[in-house]
Amino acid sequence: MKVLSNLKILQRCVAGNRLGMPIGRYLAWGAALALTMTSSPSAAQVAKAAPNAQTSKTRVITLGTGAGPFPRVKRAKSSNALQVNGRTFLIDAGDGMLMRMAAAGIRIGDPEAVFLTHMHLDHTAALPTLLGLRVMTSVTKPIDIYGPYGITRLVNGYLDGLEGFEASRSAPSGFDPRSLPRVHEFSESGLLYSDQDVKVYASENAHYNELLPGSRAKSFSFRFETADRTVVFSGDTGPSDSLVKFATGVDLLVVEVSDPNSAKERLLRNNPDMSPEAVAVAMDHILRDHLSPEQVGQLASAAKVKAVVLSHIGPGNDNDPDPFAMYVEGVQRFYSGPVTLASDLDTF
Ligand SMILES: [Zn+2]
Repeated sequence: MKVLSNLKILQRCVAGNRLGMPIGRYLAWGAALALTMTSSPSAAQVAKAAPNAQTSKTRVITLGTGAGPFPRVKRAKSSNALQVNGRTFLIDAGDGMLMRMAAAGIRIGDPEAVFLTHMHLDHTAALPTLLGLRVMTSVTKPIDIYGPYGITRLVNGYLDGLEGFEASRSAPSGFDPRSLPRVHEFSESGLLYSDQDVKVYASENAHYNELLPGSRAKSFSFRFETADRTVVFSGDTGPSDSLVKFATGVDLLVVEVSDPNSAKERLLRNNPDMSPEAVAVAMDHILRDHLSPEQVGQLASAAKVKAVVLSHIGPGNDNDPDPFAMYVEGVQRFYSGPVTLASDLDTF
């Protein structure tokens, strides 16, 4: 009974991703190149900037940099903003995103579209909040939502719950909350979106090998191409040849990273009764469906990316000693370009 219970909890944990991770920040630009500080959205949150951010029209804000599942004090769950020519696009919408948007000066009505890499909770939990707050504050401008299998059901389910929602009465007469989201569920790699400022491509990841073999669930990377920059957001993935091709030559690779050793230690510390079988399932998922620092380095080197931003940091917790040198050093064993371990609200 206990084994079954632990397995269920574990499946939820690993499905939500991995296991939490300490807070802090660590920069390493090749040998050691100092980064310039940029404007600070709040006293508590300091933004860093890569050199390109000073002159580029396109910028990336790492709104949330924590992996699932455990809540973190200093890292919201995974979300990013890409801004170009005054426009804002969101990449993933993990828990805590709205607070980070406020700190970054992104208004509720600003994002034109949300691109969800996959349907795990640490990438989607803030989407209902974003939609609900747009209804509450009379933002009637539609928002495009791109996501893989499951996104239509998630959005429709939430809209069902909004029916009769009293705050929707503050919206203009005749406004139907169902007209707010324009859902684009996709299942294949390829071009998702294109306009005069940006093109967005998707590439399927290797993230569900161990956990849900045969499932319709998929995870995707996104490649944003603007006039001045090309950025890939990895989503959650294990090592993937297709991701190497997809990210080849990009200016910025925003990529997940996890440390399998500390993941196992944290797993056992938080779940002392977990069976060896359950631990094995979790570790298989972490090892096969996520990226270690060394694997990130191999990916970045093979793809010849111009800079790496580590985000979606797992595992650990906010009170652990700062282990971040290990992450960057692991990447640098295989990759000689600039590597930054992002904090929430960093700007690149
Ligand atoms: Zn995740």
